[in-house]
Amino acid sequence: MSDPLLKHFYGGFIRLHVLYHAEKEPIFGLEMIEELGRHGYRIGPGTLYPILHQLERDGYLKRTDKVVAGHRRKTYRATAAGRRLLKDAKAKLRELFTEVIEDRPPQR
Ligand SMILES: [Zn+2]
Repeated sequence: MSDPLLKHFYGGFIRLHVLYHAEKEPIFGLEMIEELGRHGYRIGPGTLYPILHQLERDGYLKRTDKVVAGHRRKTYRATAAGRRLLKDAKAKLRELFTEVIEDRPPQR
């Protein structure tokens, strides 16, 4: 992932992906890195953690610290603002998919 434009696109996809999972259940960093890896994104903590912190700072994720097997684990869930943002982004994604992937004009 060295092309700057591709990196820019992926940054958005990764944020959308994080919000999607954080809406369904609490997520934590390592788990998301593995999940994104399954989707073909090879990213490390140095990329993912700043994204989680940014989304938390901007009010889209809420962090809860849990102790799991003696270790403190930071888990994140989507806030109401995060869920709203995801809903809006999904509408845009659907429209983009219709045009770019299905090659059809978007429904209005
Ligand atoms: Zn996923």
